[in-house]
Amino acid sequence: MTYQAEATRTSSTKKVAAKPYALVVEDEAALVELLRYNLQADGYEVEIANDGEEALLMVDERQPDIVLLDWMLPKLAGIEVCRRLRARSSTRNLPIIMLTAKSEEVDRIRGLDTGADDYVVKPFSMTELKARVRAVLRRIRPGLADDKVIAGDIEVDRTSHRVLRNGAEVHLGPTEFRLLDYLIQHPGRVFSREQLLDAVWGSDVYVEARTVDVHVGRLRKALNKHGEHDPIRTVRSAGYSLKPE
Ligand code: CA
Repeated sequence: MTYQAEATRTSSTKKVAAKPYALVVEDEAALVELLRYNLQADGYEVEIANDGEEALLMVDERQPDIVLLDWMLPKLAGIEVCRRLRARSSTRNLPIIMLTAKSEEVDRIRGLDTGADDYVVKPFSMTELKARVRAVLRRIRPGLADDKVIAGDIEVDRTSHRVLRNGAEVHLGPTEFRLLDYLIQHPGRVFSREQLLDAVWGSDVYVEARTVDVHVGRLRKALNKHGEHDPIRTVRSAGYSLKPE
């Protein structure tokens, strides 16, 4: 596949990145449909992997915000998928909820210390599952589970795609919106250009690192239009971070 084809595909799937992206790794067709339906109704973008190997490929292609991972999977067991994701620096903190069939498996999850953030035992109610998903996201990625994020004098509304600063509307392009939406989820944390490319543009798009500088520049200009304090910090040779007042 050419870079251009990849970029086209990614931009179509990432057009509205404000929805949290949940990757469901499960081989039971009926459960897959139930999870897809319920998570979509709850505002998640849902993709499905039917086995462990496919799950790892899909995570490489585009990092999910949360992974629901079945224990018993074809090709590569869920526990091994979890272990491999935890072994990589890029996915070490990726929220993972294990779905297990038996309570003995829960004991093994605990005993093996695979690094899963939570687990649910089948059969589970969708209400319980959705509550667990929200709880894990809230703990690990605060702000992501909510429609609106307010940090200092900046407010990001994911439903209407509006941004306010001190109550006044800030007009942003789609890339600047995603960039702000990502940075505001981790106030004060420094991201390299490569990390921002991965998170905002997708890891399978060929974009030069300095493209990030261009969009950060535009975001700054829009946010500080009336001479406000600049909430974006440039960290020499490291990257960018956002810390609203
Ligand atoms: Ca299974």
